[in-house]
Amino acid sequence: MSRKGRKGKEKSTKKIRYAVVGLGHLAQVAVLPAFANTPNSELVAIVSGDPAKRRALGRKYGLKHVYSYDEYDKALAAVDAVYLVLPNHLHRDYAVRAATAGVHVLCEKPMAVTEEDCKAMIETADSNHVQLMIAYRLHFEEANLEAIELAKSGKLGNVRIFDSVFSQQVMAGNVRVTELVQNGGGPVYDMGVYCINAARYLFRAEPTSVLAFSANHTGRRFERVDEMTSVVMRFPGERLATFTCSFGAAHVSRYSLIGTKGLLTAEPAYDYSMALKHRITIGERTKSKTFRKHDQFATQISYFSDCVLRDREPEPSGWEGLADVRIVRAIYESAKTQRAVKLPSLPARKRPTLRQAIQRPAHGKPRTLHAESPSGEAA
Ligand code: NDP
Repeated sequence: MSRKGRKGKEKSTKKIRYAVVGLGHLAQVAVLPAFANTPNSELVAIVSGDPAKRRALGRKYGLKHVYSYDEYDKALAAVDAVYLVLPNHLHRDYAVRAATAGVHVLCEKPMAVTEEDCKAMIETADSNHVQLMIAYRLHFEEANLEAIELAKSGKLGNVRIFDSVFSQQVMAGNVRVTELVQNGGGPVYDMGVYCINAARYLFRAEPTSVLAFSANHTGRRFERVDEMTSVVMRFPGERLATFTCSFGAAHVSRYSLIGTKGLLTAEPAYDYSMALKHRITIGERTKSKTFRKHDQFATQISYFSDCVLRDREPEPSGWEGLADVRIVRAIYESAKTQRAVKLPSLPARKRPTLRQAIQRPAHGKPRTLHAESPSGEAA
């Protein structure tokens, strides 16, 4: 079997060979170690601006191909796919360059800063016949997929309300607070996308309008971004989703889905470093369930490699990333103008289902080099 992708070259179909680009906190604690758990994928290259990290991590993972950003083209020549773990404002450029070189792209969330960026990524991937996936790890995670099934089953009745809080303390100096919102900084791009994405996959619809307010403590940490933003999203069928995401509060990761007959609370809901939990109340009965912790990164890498090997469009595709980014933009516009912002309708696309559940065992937590956790490690 041959694969589409790199122009004019036939490659081994056994394993997809990856370069991980950007060796910050997430790459070191979750992405690089995940390759030990992916039979159809192989880590062959890393790309980093930090020579000490390149040396140490190259040695640790036994890699021949270790590159700076200036050598990105060389990295692209050595691999089938890139996993982009860069700050949000760099996703577009590095994805477009990879796709143009015929290299498949797995890109961290949020997909990019603007809808135009997202469309450029989708178009370049399409015209170069490469796969593009946004790393929505929860689309393969049992707790979320069971929540989707529960919502679809009717056991909660008619699902009317989604409500969520996702917060953590982000340290001064972290790229999440040093980049302006116009450049992809701030809690809505970083954490709000999880709440937006969950509301969309639980309601299985797109919001028609959003209304948002931001609030800031004074202080240098939040000079460039909002400390927190609260949002109301109106969905078809007279349903409402509300959420608050914050960089200035203790770690909370929770959503509730409330129907005419019952309530599901997921807490923690969005994390990768701890077991996720559900509490379901229907009528008089309440039951709780703790889901086993899995390696969510190994899962999504394996799934993406499988899509590449089978020449199949991933779910979540670039369109899924775009659907969230347009809502993030509308939220910031609403917070600025203090008015509700209407969203045009979107064509129906695939949404995650229980069929996407894949489980890979969890791994221990590696020590990081020159990479600070923003704190909660969830987003
Ligand atoms: P970090 O700030 O820890 O790391 C980003 C890395 O990008 C840096 O360490 C650096 O690596 C590289 N980089 C290249 N250019 C720049 C630049 N101009 N400014 C800053 N860094 C640069 O961020 P995270 O690892 O936490 O996040 C990276 C991406 O992953 C983001 O898109 C984020 O939204 C996403 N993310 C996803 C999570 C999930 O659960 N799916 C969790 C956390 C983050 P180097 O020194 O090697 O060049």
